[in-house]
Amino acid sequence: MPNKKTIRIPVAEPYFGKKEKKYINQCIDSGWVSSTGSFVEKFEKKCADFSNAKYGIATSNGTTALHLALLACGIKKGDEVIVPTLTFISTANAVKYTGATPVFIDSQKKSWNMDPDLIESAITPKTKAIIPVHLFGLPADMDPIMSVAKKNKLFVIEDAAEAQGALYKGRPVGSIGHIGTFSFYGNKIITTGEGGMIVTNNQKVQEKIKILRDHGMSKTKRYLHNVLGYNYRLTNIQAALGVAQMEKIKSILLSKSKIAKIYQKGFESCENISTPINPVWAKNVFWLFTIILSQKYKISRNQLINELKSHGIDSRPMFPTVHSQPIYNTSDNLPVAQKISNYGISLPSSQSLKKSELNQIISIIKKFN
Ligand SMILES: *Cc1c(COP(=O)(O)O)cnc(C)c1O
Repeated sequence: MPNKKTIRIPVAEPYFGKKEKKYINQCIDSGWVSSTGSFVEKFEKKCADFSNAKYGIATSNGTTALHLALLACGIKKGDEVIVPTLTFISTANAVKYTGATPVFIDSQKKSWNMDPDLIESAITPKTKAIIPVHLFGLPADMDPIMSVAKKNKLFVIEDAAEAQGALYKGRPVGSIGHIGTFSFYGNKIITTGEGGMIVTNNQKVQEKIKILRDHGMSKTKRYLHNVLGYNYRLTNIQAALGVAQMEKIKSILLSKSKIAKIYQKGFESCENISTPINPVWAKNVFWLFTIILSQKYKISRNQLINELKSHGIDSRPMFPTVHSQPIYNTSDNLPVAQKISNYGISLPSSQSLKKSELNQIISIIKKFN
C-alpha cells in the first residue's frame, strides 16, 4: 500500500457513496453477512446483464473465478492452456492450479494484447483452451481468437478482470468466449474489496461452477460430495458493495474515458510516448491509463516513477512478462511483450482525478520527452 502521507495522487482509488453504506448496513441489520443472502444473486444478475450473458456466478476473487472457469472446462494435469505473457500473474497461475501448463504468447505491437497470429503455431495435441486478456481495458482481437479456437476445438475463457464494460465490435467483453471472468479487487473498475465474477451462457457450465464453488457439495443432497470442490464464495456483504457499485458503473466508465481523453490529448505531440490505441472496433474502458516510453525518452522509467513520486504522484511499472517470472522462467523469446513490459508505465486513473491534477502529471512527463 502506498504511504498516505507521502503519496497524494494514487494510481487507482475506489469510489464509494451512501448506497454502499446503506446496503452493507442492510446485511448487518438482517444478519445475512455470509455467502447466502439476496445481494449475491442481485449482483450476479447485474453483472451477467451488463455483459450480455445469461448467468453470473460470484466468486471470492478474480483468480478463483479463473480457476473455476478452467475446472468447468475440464482442464487438468497434462493439458496446455494458451495465455499472453503480458498480463497479471493470476492468468497463468490459475492454469497452474489445475495442473495444466500455461503456454505463453507474445503481444501485438500496437494493442499490447495477445497476438492472435501466433496462437496456431503454439497449439499442440495437449492444448485445451485459450485465455485472452483484455489488458488495461482494451479488448483483445476476439474474432481471430474465436476462429482459431473453433477450428481446433478449444475453449476460450476471457480474462476481463481489467475491462468490465469494454466492447468488442459492439459486444460486451466476457460473453464473447465460452466463459468470461472479472475481478473486483480495490483498484479494478468496480470493487467489492476482494471479489470476482464468472459469466457464461452455458447452463451446464454454470451448474458445474456453482457446485465447485461450494465445496463440491451436491445440489440435491446436503453434505454429499461427489467432486473435489472449493470454498470460493463471495459474501453477501461484498455483494452489497458490488450492487451499489454496479448502480454507478456507467458514471465510473464515463469518468475514465474523460480522463483518457485528457491524457491522449496531452501526449499527442510527444514522439517518445506511446498511448493506448483506440481502434474503431473497440470501446476501451482505460482501466489504468498506460503509456510506453521510447528508448529516446530522456530519463529511464524508474527515474520517471521517482520524479512523479517526488511530486506526490503514484505510478506503476508495467507488469513483468509472466514467462520471465522465477516461478515460470521459460526460455521463450517474446520480444514485443518484453519491450512493452520494460518501458510501460501506468498513470493515475481514478475517476475522482481533477483536470488540474491530470495537467500536472502530463506536464511532468512531457518535460523529459
Ligand atoms: C486483477 C487481475 C486478476 C486477478 O484478480 P484478483 O481479484 O486480484 O484475484 C486476473 N487477471 C488480470 C488480468 C487482472 O488484472
